[in-house]
Amino acid sequence: MRKEPVKVREVEAEKRVAGFDEVVLGYSEEEALTEASRCLQCKNPVCINGCPVGINIKGFIHHITQKDYKGAYFTIREKNNFPSICGRVCPAEYQCRKACILTRKGSPFASDNSINIHFLERFTGQMGINNGWMVPSETSEDLSKFKVAVVGSGPAGLCCAGELARKGIQVTIFESLHKTGGVLRYGIPPFRLPHSILDFEIDYLKKIGVVFKPNSIIGKGKTLQELKNEGFDAIFLGLGAGIPTFLGIPGENLGNITSANEFLTRANLMSAFKFPDYHTPVNIGRHVIVVGGGNTAMDAARVALRLQKMRGIPLDTTLVYRRSEVEMPARRLEIAHAKEEGLKLKFLVKPEEFIGDANGLVQKLKCVACELGEPDASGRRRPVEIKGSDFELDCDLAVVAIGLKANAILPKVTPELTTDKNGDVIVDPQTMETSIKNVFAGGDIVGGEGTVIEAMGMAKRAAQGIINRLLAPTSGTNLENTKGVGYANKC
Ligand code: FAD
Ligand code: SF4
Repeated sequence: MRKEPVKVREVEAEKRVAGFDEVVLGYSEEEALTEASRCLQCKNPVCINGCPVGINIKGFIHHITQKDYKGAYFTIREKNNFPSICGRVCPAEYQCRKACILTRKGSPFASDNSINIHFLERFTGQMGINNGWMVPSETSEDLSKFKVAVVGSGPAGLCCAGELARKGIQVTIFESLHKTGGVLRYGIPPFRLPHSILDFEIDYLKKIGVVFKPNSIIGKGKTLQELKNEGFDAIFLGLGAGIPTFLGIPGENLGNITSANEFLTRANLMSAFKFPDYHTPVNIGRHVIVVGGGNTAMDAARVALRLQKMRGIPLDTTLVYRRSEVEMPARRLEIAHAKEEGLKLKFLVKPEEFIGDANGLVQKLKCVACELGEPDASGRRRPVEIKGSDFELDCDLAVVAIGLKANAILPKVTPELTTDKNGDVIVDPQTMETSIKNVFAGGDIVGGEGTVIEAMGMAKRAAQGIINRLLAPTSGTNLENTKGVGYANKC
């Protein structure tokens, strides 16, 4: 008889919305064994094609069925440096689980019946943390004389640094913020990814010799040339995409309208939800509107709900999205969790104008209803406005989460660094080397807004490119515009 998928344990909605503790509790050993036993161990494991870095999914799940958790851990680590992070945040329903043979053909995302690959990965990653399993370093005299600078400490920077340090290369990470981790710390809230998990991975990098220099904005303080003059033999740029896009509609400059990045940074990085114990305030309204349909919008909405609850304000947070639920790029689990937590979702609604009060603060959002038309360039059906369907929503805090662009400080002061019309850095897709010799790049600064695992996949490739370049300094490059694969976090 076919076994039912094992549901993951979660904190109940009413309890979890009152704080920032982790929502998903993960599998116990028994649950992981049962879920792993559902895997058909296909002769042709198509799930692997759905994973952006090609993890041997069938292999690691087989190890779990044999209770060989160390084998499972090291199978994943061949391709993915941070299983306990990806097991929590990967949009598996658009990637490996969508490709799993148990997903119905033609489904826009994974069927519930597909194997819960991400929860098994999280279980395995946690076993690695609990047991302190470390991938052994393979240092060599040839490489340990080199120094590499990594700019940016998001998943791309951390992954590239780890790959290089394990070979004995001397790595320094320069990070503009006062804390490291990039979006993993300032964007994704701790109720999805606890900071302790990220800190474990960062501490491991410190143990293998990586030096962290926070509060260092490369391009404002030092230039790339100055880093080279300091003796860095190669540089990796993991700058990310952190510049918010706005709607460009009337009234957007009114008070109490903010980007999701600012809102989330205050809450997650600056611990504003612990105000007044922490100094950073965060404004929260009685009627919060979040505009967008991706992970960023979902995170902002769930943070807003928590802040309302923690301050004793009746929950009233509404997400406004111009397409329908099927087209939302957010993780399905996040959508389900947000609904359970009390988020109101308004689909096929396009913002037209923010209306303010006498004090210049936002009071209403004027919208127009839409219907779905023909598919656009993203393959999703385009929203088409319905004439005369305008209406207004109460709104005393608006959070705009409709997309992010490349971080531009460094590219702006480095004209020799070739970028495309979006500001994304152009690289040789094989080596990830940029237009400047010995300068490599990866993650969202190359592919545009993507996923954590895509960023790490590019960083791993770049690390290999750096090693090859250091060992063979005269080889050539072949610049091409590299885009993220599969899943795009676009609204
Ligand atoms: P980032 O994580 O953006 O890190 C770049 C770092 O570089 C930052 O710390 C920045 O401060 C630093 N930096 C920039 N310029 C400089 C400079 N000049 N000098 C020094 N430092 C600099 N993906 C998923 O897979 N699953 C999810 O659930 C998910 N949720 C998300 C939620 C939010 C709110 C956001 C914003 C994104 C989410 N993503 C998710 C996308 C994912 O986080 C990104 O694709 C990933 O973080 C990109 O990694 P990165 O290392 O390229 O960039
Ligand atoms: Fe297991 Fe699904 Fe992969 Fe087949 S496709 S090996 S059932 S996870």
